[in-house]
Amino acid sequence: MPELPEVEVTRLGISKELVGAKVAAVAIHSEKLRSLVPQGLPLLLPGQTIREVRRRGKYLILACPAGSLLLHLGMTGHLRLVPGGTPPGAHDHFDLLLESGVMLRMNDVRRFGSIHWTDANPMQHQLLRGIGPEPLTAEFTGEYLYGKSRGRKVALQRLLMDASIVAGIGNIYAAESLFRCRLLPDTKAGDLLLPDCLLLVDAIKDTLSVSIATGRTTMDFSRTEERPAYFPQRLYVYGREAKPCRECGGAIKRGRLGNRSTFFCPVCQH
Ligand SMILES: [Zn+2]
Repeated sequence: MPELPEVEVTRLGISKELVGAKVAAVAIHSEKLRSLVPQGLPLLLPGQTIREVRRRGKYLILACPAGSLLLHLGMTGHLRLVPGGTPPGAHDHFDLLLESGVMLRMNDVRRFGSIHWTDANPMQHQLLRGIGPEPLTAEFTGEYLYGKSRGRKVALQRLLMDASIVAGIGNIYAAESLFRCRLLPDTKAGDLLLPDCLLLVDAIKDTLSVSIATGRTTMDFSRTEERPAYFPQRLYVYGREAKPCRECGGAIKRGRLGNRSTFFCPVCQH
């Protein structure tokens, strides 16, 4: 599932073609994503110049003079840049053709992604305004996380996946960050001490930064086949049940937190 690093790498990958480009046409191949794709887009967007491609949490924001297009990639969504006129495949739902002849195409097998339009400040959109601080900014500190975790009985991994606490972190990068600072995913959030929070915040920043840097070196958005343009990550625990821990050689375990899986090393993390 695309989390902050994948969305950020996508932003970096598409910005070069999109920023300053004028929209020539919009094609909606299937309107039923997580929510209905706004039907007015083929009238609203042509002629608009994309001023900026921003990211907030897992949302991409294409800012134009008349308003902003918000894109969420859901569980399986990804974007790529294809030549205009490339016929859509089975899971290609949305195309944004630029006057340059390049087309931004959204593919999403499971259709949990979504597309929204707002003519107001996108940061105040109902989907964005409740999102917590961006983890790679100075606003996200150990002291902040310590404050937010006081009195909370929720498992630490779930706290990190709560977008109102911190933006853009899902299962993968929560598990990876917890491994990096040696804390177990089911640690009760309220039991954290301030030094734990300082280490955890550093671990989150490092994990995300390394992933973005890795993604930047491997990304290729100008591909026509239906697979994400970003990278296989070198993961330590996520998806590695029963495989040897890269640090101690012991077996990685899979656990449950509510309806979600978690992965951890019972030797390295405690
Ligand atoms: Zn280990």
